[in-house]
Amino acid sequence: EAKSNGRNCHCFFSPRLNQIAQYNAGLEADLREGLDKSQFFLEYQPIVETITGNYVGLEALIRWNHPKKGLLLPNDFMRVANDSGLIDRIGSWVIEAACQQIAAFNDAGVVIPHIAVNVSPRQFENQNMSANILDNIAKYNVPAGKLSVEITEELLLDHNQHVHEELFKLRENGVDISIDDFGTGYSSLQYLRDLPATRLKIDRTFISRIEHSSADRAIISTIAHLAHALDMRVIAEGVETEAQYALLRASGCDEVQGFLVGRPLSVGQLHELFDHGPAQFVVGQS
Ligand code: C2E
Ligand code: MG
Ligand code: MG
Ligand code: MG
Repeated sequence: EAKSNGRNCHCFFSPRLNQIAQYNAGLEADLREGLDKSQFFLEYQPIVETITGNYVGLEALIRWNHPKKGLLLPNDFMRVANDSGLIDRIGSWVIEAACQQIAAFNDAGVVIPHIAVNVSPRQFENQNMSANILDNIAKYNVPAGKLSVEITEELLLDHNQHVHEELFKLRENGVDISIDDFGTGYSSLQYLRDLPATRLKIDRTFISRIEHSSADRAIISTIAHLAHALDMRVIAEGVETEAQYALLRASGCDEVQGFLVGRPLSVGQLHELFDHGPAQFVVGQS
């Protein structure tokens, strides 16, 4: 192929890149079909309050039952979703599915904690995010405070007035905002001051080294102090061991999320957890 193009070929597209492009195009077509055929579903990872052990939140995480490739996780397809713009449709689906699920638990008389949905920066560019979320809250009669959103620092990079207004509209209407993966992006302290966020989620990379790195411990307790001074709650992501849990609790983290306190759960597993009343994580039980 490349040969027949002759010597004037400027081969920006190596065979390897070409393969990737083809794979991505295939995945994009599959994503469209997946949306049409309802191949996506949500799992819900529990969040636990450190002081009480109470389950105080659930993070909705998207999964894809791909007909040929099997179960796919966000890292397998969210980049293509973002680059292709399909994130708009996928993101809308996630918001509606989460609201529907909250309504279903409500109808069944099962009390669950608030559900947090992840929202990509792209979704704020291309659609009326706050209206989309508030419309679904109204449509499904989602009780106040039951739905929250997670945004990433990237979103805050360009001081976008539109994004700011959208976030304020959500907050005004009782939708809490968490800043996700905190510490890995480029946000300045100015954002923390100006944003209407209620929670700060410290990225897993800081948590994984906490037992061995006094620098990471110092960073975590400093973030916790700062967040508290700004009236935000602090969540540690990716907590896998009891030693981490104990250190994070001592460092002032209000909540933890991670395999120690719960893997992402199916709806059936949520029923097992919450059908008999409020649930509690007990250190040492896992
Ligand atoms: P995230 O929002 O930071 O979500 C946490 C990720 O860490 C999840 O991966 C979760 O399964 C994983 N995790 C949780 N606890 C632990 C732990 O103790 N150890 C380890 N090693 N990992 C842990 P997942 O489900 O693969 O999602 C990856 C990312 O994809 C998410 O990171 C989020 O940025 C994005 N994502 C997931 N669902 C959605 C969605 O519905 N919409 C959008 N826009 N993005 C989503
Ligand atoms: Mg998240
Ligand atoms: Mg996160
Ligand atoms: Mg993270």
